[in-house]
Amino acid sequence: MNCDVLIAGAGMVGLSTAYQILQQYPDIRIIVLEKEAEVAAHQTGHNSGVMHSGIYYKPGSYKAINCIRGYQMLIAFCEQQNIDYNLIGKLIIASDERELPKLNSIYNNGIQNGLTQLSMLEQDAVKRIEPNVTCLKAIYVPQAGIIDYKKVAAKLKQNIESTGSFVYNLKKIKAIREVSDKLIVKCSDESEFETSFFINCAGLQSDRIARMAGLNTDFRIIPFKGNYFKLKEEKKDIVKHLIYPVPDPQFPFLGIHYTRLINGDQTLGPNAVLSLNREGYESASFNSKDTYDILSFPGFWKLIRKHWKMGMGEYLRNYSKSYFAKKASLMTPGITADDLQPGHSGIRAQVVDSHGNMVEDFVCLRKNKMIHVCNAPSPAATAGLSIGKQISEWYSEMK
Ligand SMILES: Cc1cc2nc3c(=O)[nH]c(=O)nc-3n(C[C@H](O)[C@H](O)[C@H](O)COP(=O)(O)OP(=O)(O)OC[C@H]3O[C@@H](n4cnc5c(N)ncnc54)[C@H](O)[C@@H]3O)c2cc1C
Repeated sequence: MNCDVLIAGAGMVGLSTAYQILQQYPDIRIIVLEKEAEVAAHQTGHNSGVMHSGIYYKPGSYKAINCIRGYQMLIAFCEQQNIDYNLIGKLIIASDERELPKLNSIYNNGIQNGLTQLSMLEQDAVKRIEPNVTCLKAIYVPQAGIIDYKKVAAKLKQNIESTGSFVYNLKKIKAIREVSDKLIVKCSDESEFETSFFINCAGLQSDRIARMAGLNTDFRIIPFKGNYFKLKEEKKDIVKHLIYPVPDPQFPFLGIHYTRLINGDQTLGPNAVLSLNREGYESASFNSKDTYDILSFPGFWKLIRKHWKMGMGEYLRNYSKSYFAKKASLMTPGITADDLQPGHSGIRAQVVDSHGNMVEDFVCLRKNKMIHVCNAPSPAATAGLSIGKQISEWYSEMK
């Protein structure tokens, strides 16, 4: 089958990219290939469901630019398509004196990123809006909300297909070869697609697809699992806003937080532990290829040497509900292990470089008639429509 653009992966990034290119070029034919039976089957459908404001990210970075623009685009898309979302607002709280300088720097970062409605709240002001939260100080961020990204993905698919382009499920890409000015993409069911342009939005598998397409990559995706707990009914209303701690500046993860889902459930999580299966959500899930890829990558061992202490803490939280509850009780003293029920899990695709650094910013590689999105961790669900718009601009230049 022939097409103008072929996209690997029907998560927020792949679907947004198809949608944005079609906004600009409504007459071209795009095919999105997805190996699972439904869209949003991995990161997009297993995340916290938060619409991020962009407060944390380094001014001028791809994350900052795309999060803020993506947030606006997401709201506009939801309004147009009747998708529920709720801007419930967020508190980033400092529970310890040592966190105050970092809290101030996050606040200043938010101002530099153009967020105009932030406020720094003292303890008593926090108590007035969140009586069950204990902290020294907090940033109130009104531009943060909740949404169901599976619903956004389903609407994007519907829009893409209404133009005559297609999203094919159960098509696992296994080979890509260049033949004169075309690319031939082969799937594991032996079907072949011929395309003039290829875009890799394969999330947890994107480094493999990049290598399949002949790119030299000196990084690897290291999967980090995050487990959530669901709060029992009686504790569901313990907080009203999204409640986040001050994140550890050494890591790209935001720390365990309270998130209300769009269906009303209250969740607490996620932690971050190494996953030996890129797409295995059960506890102790194991995949030999994924494990080999982790252990044979020198950057992984350098990462471990740097961060083993933090890793141990995360493992403790993973295996002990009471340790997890104890950590959460620093933010909300009323919470105990008995209040926590098992919730969902998600696996983050985190690029680690050959020096053992977790790459913070989004990474897109461009070569010939190909674009490879190789690092699109949080907030790439919020930022998806903006990343898609950026890719559509690159497509215009490169096609
Ligand atoms: C625990 C967790 C919490 C998060 N919380 C938030 C949040 O609250 N807000 C936010 O903005 N972001 C959040 N994120 C980040 C966000 O979910 C991701 O950054 C975003 O969903 C990435 O989208 P994607 O399309 O790149 O990847 P994915 O959603 O993973 O999609 C990639 C798709 O490619 C497909 N694929 C892979 N290989 C192949 C192949 N060979 N052939 C065909 N198809 C293939 C996969 O099946 C998959 O469907 C969170 C992530 C996690 C894991």
